[in-house]
Amino acid sequence: MPQATPSDAIHDFVEARRDDLARYLSDLIRARTVNPPGDEYLAAPVLTDFCQARGIPYETFEKEKGRTNVVARLGAGRPRILVPCHFDVVPAGSGWETDPFEPLERDGRIYGRGAKDNKGPLAAMMVAAEYLKAHEADLAGQLLLVGCADEEAGSRLGMKYLLEECGVEAEMAIVPDAGSEMREIDVGEKGALFLKVRALGRQAHGSTPERGASALWPMIAFLERIRDWRPAVPEGAEGAGLFTPPTLNVGTIHAGTVANIVPGECEAQLDLRYPPGPDPEAILAHLRSELAAVADAHEGVRMDLEVLSNQPPTLVDASNPMVEAIRRHTRAVTGTAAEPIGQSGATVAKFLILRGIPAVGFQPGPEGVEHVAGEWTDLDGLARFAEVMAKVVLDLLGA
Ligand SMILES: [Zn+2]
Repeated sequence: MPQATPSDAIHDFVEARRDDLARYLSDLIRARTVNPPGDEYLAAPVLTDFCQARGIPYETFEKEKGRTNVVARLGAGRPRILVPCHFDVVPAGSGWETDPFEPLERDGRIYGRGAKDNKGPLAAMMVAAEYLKAHEADLAGQLLLVGCADEEAGSRLGMKYLLEECGVEAEMAIVPDAGSEMREIDVGEKGALFLKVRALGRQAHGSTPERGASALWPMIAFLERIRDWRPAVPEGAEGAGLFTPPTLNVGTIHAGTVANIVPGECEAQLDLRYPPGPDPEAILAHLRSELAAVADAHEGVRMDLEVLSNQPPTLVDASNPMVEAIRRHTRAVTGTAAEPIGQSGATVAKFLILRGIPAVGFQPGPEGVEHVAGEWTDLDGLARFAEVMAKVVLDLLGA
């Protein structure tokens, strides 16, 4: 990676705080914030002590005891840029060669649960915040640096609570919880239809299946019919080219009890992901017509479809100033401009957007280390992220 010029004040500031960066991250990893139960109160002091020492005002919010959220504010007025990092982590799981909650620093890397997801980005944001605090007079607007709870379990006690019940508002948000190595800007997330399909037949003795109506065969027939079907994405749909094609996963199928009973009920659960373009009503209409055709071909069988949840696709316009600023500063700092992409999973960016706050995902750290044994991140990447984010915030809140 090409380095910024030595005369670059932000670069120098960050380089001089490498030890702080490693210490913040190590302290965060040592705080066992495995969700469940979360216990984010163990990690919150890393951020609040830092804020106190540097005169950065902050508030804490808890919807449930011990599920601490911290909102630190730099600057004043609007616009407000929200940068939420989550305190909680997934369980350690098995396969670790080191203690997942005792950070190990080796060859420029730090190993430990949450090193990338999401404590590394928080540690880097603290370094960026320290620089921005020292240059607060240059901010025409606010940075809201948030340490939040409960992200790994749906954010009910975290970002959702802060937005819905604590009066946290912003005009834009950068969520350092998607992508890797600052290569991508997550500008959109696919929609997700979670569906339950049921077949109801008639139970009978396994020795006389002709007396019953198996619910299993029509389900298999239905799944075969839709196996290769995907909703069409109209040409020129918003965000065309940013997303991968729609996907369909059959997550579960349940039928029957023992070999000598004809199964009277069968249930399958589907996860259908789609980019902006297809109309979810049209998707459902197609699936229902396929179900009707299968039911017609199987005497004594009824089939129905239930929508368990429907998350619409989201997309931030590629001309949004956040996208432009992130691209420009990653190019200057790392030599490569981050590229806008649409992703298949969902982050808190999705519900920020659905609440009217344009939000993009952008983060440092190696690919594919989240939620696995041996999670790590590199201090170089974090330092460069701190640098990019300080520059992006100054750019977006430029006086
Ligand atoms: Zn995360």
